[in-house]
Amino acid sequence: MSQEFDSLEQIIRQDPVFGQVSFDGHEQIVFCNDKDTGLRAIIGIHNTVLGPALGGTRMWNYENEWAALNDVLRLSRGMTFKSAITGLNLGGGKAVILGDAKTQKTPELMRRFGEFVHSLSGKYITAEDVGMATEDMDTVREVTPYVTGISEHKGGAGNPSPITAYGVFMGMKAAAEFKYGSDVLEDKKIYVEGIGNVGETLVEYLTQEGADVVIADINQDRLEEVRDKYGATIYGGNDLYGEQMDIYAPCAMGATVNNTTINKLTADIIAGAANNQLENEIKHGKMLQDRGIVYAPDFLINAGGIINVYAELEGYDRSEIMRKTENIYTTTIEILNRAAETKVTTHQAALEIAQARIAARKQEALAGK
Ligand code: NAD
Repeated sequence: MSQEFDSLEQIIRQDPVFGQVSFDGHEQIVFCNDKDTGLRAIIGIHNTVLGPALGGTRMWNYENEWAALNDVLRLSRGMTFKSAITGLNLGGGKAVILGDAKTQKTPELMRRFGEFVHSLSGKYITAEDVGMATEDMDTVREVTPYVTGISEHKGGAGNPSPITAYGVFMGMKAAAEFKYGSDVLEDKKIYVEGIGNVGETLVEYLTQEGADVVIADINQDRLEEVRDKYGATIYGGNDLYGEQMDIYAPCAMGATVNNTTINKLTADIIAGAANNQLENEIKHGKMLQDRGIVYAPDFLINAGGIINVYAELEGYDRSEIMRKTENIYTTTIEILNRAAETKVTTHQAALEIAQARIAARKQEALAGK
């Protein structure tokens, strides 16, 4: 038997899609391939009980296809709970495009991706995520109406990232209120890891409040730009997680809260924008709980962006967007209190509320309401 056949057999035995650890009863997974434009994308539709699956498109140079599939499954599942806990009538979905956004993203590729989105007839609605900009959504809009996060001059709500940052800021303040009895972040040492679209605006809010902000990024130009704009300190070491800090704000990629980092972290609070911060939500949620580190669940506090794009579908205005986003403060306090009272992890407490909303809607649908 050939080597290829051996490994193929092995893959089949392992159930490569439905058997993935990240697969959680997803409704539909769409693999998109277009030779002419070089598009290779995966759209994950996790759950549409509350409404169409809305979630951004990420373009990333994945190590391999498994990593891309794993990422889209984790992200689309997260969107289901994010919309549910935020009270939006949306389901959870997400898309990933395999490739380097800096060198491989072309208008043709984005339009072809848009055609795949269109073929789902509105079951999945896209928006921007890492590697995407508002202009890319404008390009997708040329071929499908099932896209949000388009430019304001084209009738959209614009870049959602500043709103996401505002929600993260609200969630962080709520966590501080819970932990310290005061939500004032002045003089708190806060490490912001990843100062992209969201991280930068978060740094702006934090420095305005007088926090002692340290920034880390793999992009040196960004570091210098953000330092010069807001007076934050650039992290020069090579083991951020072991540094003394009050608050850790992950705003780059997911899974940075894991076996290795939790044991080093000195932070009292983790509150950031990145999706899927806990590598393993059960195990690492529990480790944080045991160590007394207050974790503000990512899918709860980074919902500002989806609130912003939802406005495009529902037609509400900026003040309503800000009001809904500010409400993340109240919801975070409620979740942290609930977790403490019921002795579950903060992640679990948030998940239970989101799941209850979906279950209730399902029951209503079954009853024909
Ligand atoms: P972005 O691409 O604009 O910024 C990400 C930044 O992280 C970049 O500056 C990049 O250089 C940096 N980075 C990447 N790997 C890193 C590493 N290992 N260490 C340090 N820095 C690293 O993305 P964004 O829109 O700011 O989103 C940030 C995170 O927040 C993502 O996980 C995204 O999924 C999540 N999120 C974003 C939104 C939104 O509205 N943009 C909404 C919800 C969640």
